[in-house]
Amino acid sequence: SVVPNDLGAFWMPFTANRQFKQNPRLFVAAKDMHYTTSDGRQVLDGTAGLWCVNAGHARPKIVEAIANQAAELDYAPAFQMGHPKAFELANRIVDIAPEGLNHVLFTNSGSESVETALKVALAYQKQKGQGSRTRLIGRERGYHGVNFGGISVGGIVTNRKMFGTLLTGVDHMPHTHNLSKNAFSRGLPAHGAELADELERIVTLHDASTIAAVIVEPVAGSTGVLIPPPDYLKRLREITRKHGILLIFDEVITGYGRLGTPFGADYFGVTPDIMVTAKGLTNGVIPMGAVLVSSEIHDAFMTGPEHLIEFFHGYTYSGNPIASAAGLATLETYKEEGLLTRGAELAKVWEDGLHSLRGEPHVIDVRNIGLVGAIELEPIAGQPTKRAFSAFLHAYENGLLIRTTGDIIALSPPLIVSESQIGEIVDGVRNALRSIQ
Ligand code: PMP
Repeated sequence: SVVPNDLGAFWMPFTANRQFKQNPRLFVAAKDMHYTTSDGRQVLDGTAGLWCVNAGHARPKIVEAIANQAAELDYAPAFQMGHPKAFELANRIVDIAPEGLNHVLFTNSGSESVETALKVALAYQKQKGQGSRTRLIGRERGYHGVNFGGISVGGIVTNRKMFGTLLTGVDHMPHTHNLSKNAFSRGLPAHGAELADELERIVTLHDASTIAAVIVEPVAGSTGVLIPPPDYLKRLREITRKHGILLIFDEVITGYGRLGTPFGADYFGVTPDIMVTAKGLTNGVIPMGAVLVSSEIHDAFMTGPEHLIEFFHGYTYSGNPIASAAGLATLETYKEEGLLTRGAELAKVWEDGLHSLRGEPHVIDVRNIGLVGAIELEPIAGQPTKRAFSAFLHAYENGLLIRTTGDIIALSPPLIVSESQIGEIVDGVRNALRSIQ
């Protein structure tokens, strides 16, 4: 098997690589729900790659669409020129998006979508004569990618502390997650309105007329599947509307069926002004992101039917033909197979399976929503990732891919997962938990 011998060969530096060098793990193939490792083993994908391969791996329709598009029109300039599939895809995204979000800006990743959304929010406020609105509000434990805007509004201090000031005028609301109230919760925890009222406190502190936008993940994924109380996002919507603040949902994980609804906005019944998406848009196969905005925002950028204000933004690969073809084939696959709502059909089986892990060694909380789950382990003082990483290695050696963040095991299988595969995932995690020394 291949043993990496040079850190320079890897794109995830430092700690991750040291762990990796000790235990090299390479995938060489994938099909539907399984990866094949370089030593020829099958590994059940409990994480949809990185929360992105929602329709499963190597789906023929998507593979063919990419190959055909590469042969037919491989690339078209993203400026001054266009091509039909980008427009077609924008329309298909709008078809499944919450009502009112009907314009699309294409990007190439979640991080780029976040930067795009923040710039659109600030430019919109300026266009509306609200140039004093420059402040942005994120949340503690929010994750919005790794670019400068995203780490500024993101709530992971270690991701930003070495970079100095970053974006100025950013505040972070406390996160919704409170373990003592939520431990082993089924369904959503209470206290939503109270938590959202923290935004009112920040507004009062700064004066509403200085705040441009608030950005939140409907359910924080990467920081441990933190599920908000049912009325939390509704209350954020009320407060933002009252004060003329834009509400941005970062749906990079929660978009495209992950919660059993097309978007997290649908799950919680709250429509933001701007919605950030990526990952599942192209089934994780080709990098692509899409930022959706309301007509109100779109119109503020137009000085006439064809004329955009001076707002230079866009990427060489924005809406490129191959990504657009992949996106169209992905959305078609979701539609044909009912995948955008399959998570709701499986939610009970998923919930019962995950909650059967309550009482296993080290487990202090189990959380679930749609086809996402988290098993939180009691950390060892001073070694906050040790137990979860040990479980990860055991699961991997025994044919199951899980993801860990700190001492939280996160699960998000492709939406094509069968009930028996849910059983396999739960058993794999159970055995991994029992194996922790
Ligand atoms: N926002 C959220 C909510 C995410 O989960 C992620 C990626 N995990 C990103 C943004 C960044 O996406 P990307 O890695 O594609 O840049």
